[in-house]
Formats: sequence, C-alpha cells, structure tokens
Amino acid sequence: MINIEILMQAVMESRDGITISDARLPDYPLVFANPAFEKLTGYTQDEIINNNCRYLQANDKQQRDTSKIRKAIQQGEYCLVTLRNYRKDGTMFWNELSISPVYNAQAELTHFIGIQKDVTARVTLEQHLLQERKLLEQTKAKLEQLIIHDGLTGIYSRSYFEDQLSIFWKHAVESQNSLVVMFIDVDYFKLFNDSYGHIAGDEALKTVASCLHDSMRRNNDFVARYGGEEFIVLAADMDKEQAIAHADLLCQNIRNLNIPHASSPHHFLTISCGIAYIKPNAESTSKVFLHCADQALYQAKAKGRNKVVLYKD
Ligand code: GH3
Ligand code: MG
Ligand code: MG
Repeated sequence: MINIEILMQAVMESRDGITISDARLPDYPLVFANPAFEKLTGYTQDEIINNNCRYLQANDKQQRDTSKIRKAIQQGEYCLVTLRNYRKDGTMFWNELSISPVYNAQAELTHFIGIQKDVTARVTLEQHLLQERKLLEQTKAKLEQLIIHDGLTGIYSRSYFEDQLSIFWKHAVESQNSLVVMFIDVDYFKLFNDSYGHIAGDEALKTVASCLHDSMRRNNDFVARYGGEEFIVLAADMDKEQAIAHADLLCQNIRNLNIPHASSPHHFLTISCGIAYIKPNAESTSKVFLHCADQALYQAKAKGRNKVVLYKD
C-alpha cells in the first residue's frame, strides 16, 4: 500500500487544480483546494473553503455543460465538462473539470473530487479552427456558385455544361439512349452593340438567357452560356422531331421578346440554332458531336438567321 504522505504530496504538487467538496452538507461546500487550484483561480484556500465551486462561473451561469454537472451531482456520478470560469481578478479561462463521486464503505456518497485544468489555449484554437472552417465552407460555396453559374446572365456556365455533358454522355452510352445539343448564337449581335451600346448589349444577353432558361420544358434539359453571345442546350431522350420543335420554340420565344434591332433584317433580336442528334457508343466522341451542332448552326446562319437546322451527315 502506498504511503499516505506520498499521496498527499501528489495532490499538493499536482499541476491540475484538485478540490474536494462535502456531499453530506447542504450545497456541497468545498473542504479542500490544492495550491494548483489557488494558482489557477487566484483565490486562496481560505477564500473558497465552505463555498460551492459554482462561484467560479460568476454571472455566466447559462452554459452548455452546467446541466450535465447538475445531473451528475444529483445522481452521484462521474462527469467531465468544459466551463467558462472566472479568476479572482475577473479574467475568464476555460476550465476542463472532472467530478468524481466518493462513496464510503456503507455506499453513502460522502465527497466529490474535482480536477480542474486550464484548457483556454485548446478551446481558443478549436474555436479559431471552427471559424476558419466556416469561412472555408462559405468560400467554397461561393466558388462553386461561380463555377456553376455564368457571371453575367446567372444561367449555367460552360464549365457546368462540360461536366454535365460527360455525365449525360456516359449515361447515354450505357443505356443506349439519344442525346441532343443545340448551339444557339444571337444574330447580328455585333451590330446590336454598335447600335445600342455595350451596356444595352449586356442587358439583352441577360434577357435572352433568362428567356431560354424559362423555355426549358423538361426537368433534365438545361441551357448554359457557352461564351460571348452563344448558348448551348443539352437534352437526353429527345427524338429529332421533338428537338426541332423545341429549337423552333426557342427561336420564337426570343423573337417574341420584341427587342428592337434596327440594323437586323429581322428588325428584332433573333437567334439561330444548330442541332446535333446522336446515340453515343464507345467509338463516338462528344467533341465530334459538338462540332456537328456547330456546323448546323453555321448553316442556319447561312440560310438567313432566325433559323433552326438539324445536322445531317
Ligand atoms: P452573327 O449573326 O453571324 O452571329 O453575327 P454577330 O455579329 O452576332 O457575330 P460576331 O461573332 O461577329 O459578333 C459577336 C458579338 O457579340 C461581338 C461581341 O462584341 C459581342 N459580345 C460577345 N460577348 C458579349 C458580351 O458579354 N456583352 C456584349 N454586350 N456583347 C458581347
Ligand atoms: Mg458568335
Ligand atoms: Mg452572333
């Protein structure tokens, strides 16, 4: 059995604050505190003996862990909590407090032993890291928003289109379904800028983009801004007739916006659309697919603009 003096020395020289409270007296007053506790709190033994340890919480009594302590003490159980405590000079420190019940031979609860550790540095670091993580998550969400959406028009971006194309493509190869892309280009847009100015041009592009976006009829179809005054639609499981009808509708909807364009032979802002239809297989590539839509767009322009052309080999 270990010498009682050695045990006493361990308690007196411990770097952690050690307190003992009497569980048989009302409000469990402290009956002992070691020098490390005095150093940690700034209170001397004489100042704290006969008080309940909760005075260290000062006026800051509504804390996350206080109910945990109350419950453990009521039930005579162990608990480990982290609390904001206040030294005699009023400064706050984070106290990691473990409370252990002591039972006598008759199984009566006689004392509680409290071990107290100043964990301010750790808690501050944890709070700092949490704050940093929140900031990082916010920045990530903002970046994702910027990557997915086009800055000017707010509709999907080209990089989103490219990501989706590879997903749609893989799926279409596996399920042997068809894919449709429509390349859309605003007609005589350089002349529009020249006539009405670049700011009016930007406004027109925003109006065209949201009209195209609102014209998507099925859940998985979408339109993205491909660049400049060019847009692209991606749709799965659409046959050629449906694709032509949908592209015609897009052209009509844009024309029906009635955005004046005095230098266009159509007198209003219009778009042209080239469609490519494909049933992708292991040999075909999406690059060729896009090229076909581009070729069809070129033909729509050559035919006088405000037109839809389906690519045919
Ligand atoms: P076409 O009918 O053959 O398509 O003629 P176009 O004038 O539209 O074609 P072109 O490619 O010669 O010109 C496209 C114009 O689109 C040139 C450029 O100034 C304008 N443009 C591209 N991006 C933007 C933009 O973000 N804002 C504005 N205001 N204009 C843009
Ligand atoms: Mg263009
Ligand atoms: Mg154009």
